[in-house]
Amino acid sequence: MNPTAFSNLPLSADMLANLESLGYSEMTPIQAQSLPLVLAGRDVIAKAKTGSGKTAAFGIALLEKLNVRFFGVQALVLCPTRELADQVAKEIRRLARLTHNVKVLTLCGGVSIGPQIGSLERGAHIVVGTPGRIVDHIAKGTLKLDSINQLVLDEADRMLEMGFAEDIDTVLAACNAERQTLLFSATYPDDIKKISARCQRDPQMIAVESIH
Ligand code: ADP
Ligand code: MG
Repeated sequence: MNPTAFSNLPLSADMLANLESLGYSEMTPIQAQSLPLVLAGRDVIAKAKTGSGKTAAFGIALLEKLNVRFFGVQALVLCPTRELADQVAKEIRRLARLTHNVKVLTLCGGVSIGPQIGSLERGAHIVVGTPGRIVDHIAKGTLKLDSINQLVLDEADRMLEMGFAEDIDTVLAACNAERQTLLFSATYPDDIKKISARCQRDPQMIAVESIH
């Protein structure tokens, strides 16, 4: 048995076929360590350097837990910048190629809010956004997070460096308390420990150290 084969995980046949078609022949180290726990519903703090495949480490789990027949927001991914949110949304859409009719919506600042409200009214399963704009939608009542199942703080260290702590707290207060919370970061400063203590339950810490 190859321990890094995606086929060791409890994944749907469509997901396994899609991973193969994407050329993802093996899990990266952070995926191999975090996906079993994430798929089991645990809260996880995952620390690994840029380019190590963190997006799929949560994206696969988000897609596998989704109820596509329910057209409401079931997962929220917070990212520090618009560029990163676009990259994450693109990777989740690639991972969803064989999972039909999954709607991934990006909600970032720097563009007018009206069309985003229209998109939310039409329905989305997964929202990827930057903290400020997500807070705007919460304040307007255009984004409801009280029934989400999963919250991801991606590049959490950068979000804190950029001064988003207060916005993150506003988002946390609006989220379903029963959710799974995943925290991804390239570094593990004290701030991350504090935010984990505020938003996670019995988190498992996973760190993949770079060799260099
Ligand atoms: P990170 O968030 O850790 O910086 P990304 O999620 O952006 O990393 O992934 C980096 C690149 O690796 C992306 O181009 C992604 O498509 C690719 N990738 C992710 N997982 C795998 C895998 N298991 N096999 C091959 N390529 C992968
Ligand atoms: Mg990333």
